[in-house]
Amino acid sequence: MASLSLTNINKSYPNGFQAVKDFSLEIADKEFIIFVGPSGCGKSTTLRMIAGLEEITSGELKIGDRVVNDVEPKDRDIAMVFQNYALYPHMTVYDNMAFGLKLRKMPKDQIDKMVRDAAEILDLTSLLDRKPKALSGGQRQRVAMGRAIVRDPKVFLMDEPLSNLDAKLRGQMRIEISKLHQRLGTTIIYVTHDQTEAMTLGTRIVVMKDGVAQQIDTPQNLYDRPNNLFVAGFIGSPQMNMLDAKCEVSGENVTLKVGPYSLLLPPAKAKKVIAGGYAGKTVVLGIRPEDLSDSEMVISSNPNTVIQATVNVYEMLGAEVLLHFEVEGFNMTAKVDPRTTARNGDRIKLALNPEKIHVFDKETGLTIS
Ligand code: ATP
Repeated sequence: MASLSLTNINKSYPNGFQAVKDFSLEIADKEFIIFVGPSGCGKSTTLRMIAGLEEITSGELKIGDRVVNDVEPKDRDIAMVFQNYALYPHMTVYDNMAFGLKLRKMPKDQIDKMVRDAAEILDLTSLLDRKPKALSGGQRQRVAMGRAIVRDPKVFLMDEPLSNLDAKLRGQMRIEISKLHQRLGTTIIYVTHDQTEAMTLGTRIVVMKDGVAQQIDTPQNLYDRPNNLFVAGFIGSPQMNMLDAKCEVSGENVTLKVGPYSLLLPPAKAKKVIAGGYAGKTVVLGIRPEDLSDSEMVISSNPNTVIQATVNVYEMLGAEVLLHFEVEGFNMTAKVDPRTTARNGDRIKLALNPEKIHVFDKETGLTIS
């Protein structure tokens, strides 16, 4: 069993800086957990504490049933893959992969079998005699993975393993890592600042900011039900549109006012806004770019949610078009059908589905509904 349990983990560096604050997480066997967040949020520090490369200031770390706070990295039954691969340049691919096993004094024929099995899984068999300098970035990355696989660890830790690759190769390697996870059935903890990597790879994602886990959830829930403004803004590309709106309450009805626009909230959302005491207050209205539509059909079926704007920038991305515009001083983006006729400078109408909007507390950033 390769479950992990992190309970109230804190990390203060010797200079007094607290990089991780009261971090708790239960990781089940075979999960693919992602730590994601902006630079400096503490994701690598957390991973390094799990690896044993960084001391835990307080809290408890368990791998399986064993508390490992004071266990040496080599005795934790984990393997770590770094972004710089750390391959030995003078050794062949075979020797790079065999190195750790030789150190463990494993019999030669057993080493040979493990290296060849891993090479097969990673499609490296034809490259076993090459030196790292004769490999592409993606192939080097696969060797680094191979070196981790041959150790047959309970847990894989990966720190931005794809960040040195170009966009196309990153996309391919993402699929390879996903397949690898299915095939090996091990627990993986993976650090990235890239939300696409996080969303596509993770069974669950930990979104971090300033050393604090903001939300721990499935990719779908993070997207559909973000806990706060930070998560809402971090997950999703292009970013969620956010506008200040005034809450007007009349009986059980809540209307959000943005300049000349009034948006009547659906009853379930209105209830939460009233219960939270937001009548008369300013809240933040969040709208995902794909929840704005310029299609005639959507506009005619949602006549009360139509906004008008002038297209500042038209961006054709192939499968979709991004329209950038301004509403009451707020920059906004709509992701629309590529067959749109809208172009730069055009006056357009957009409608939104009120069921899809998000409402946040402007002061705390927490989600209201
Ligand atoms: P990145 O994506 O840039 O690698 P990260 O989220 O992985 O960022 P960490 O490397 O975990 O961030 O660092 C978290 C915070 O701790 C940062 O503010 C960093 O400056 C600080 N930090 C890291 N190592 C030390 C250290 N040895 N002493 C003091 N502060 C440190």
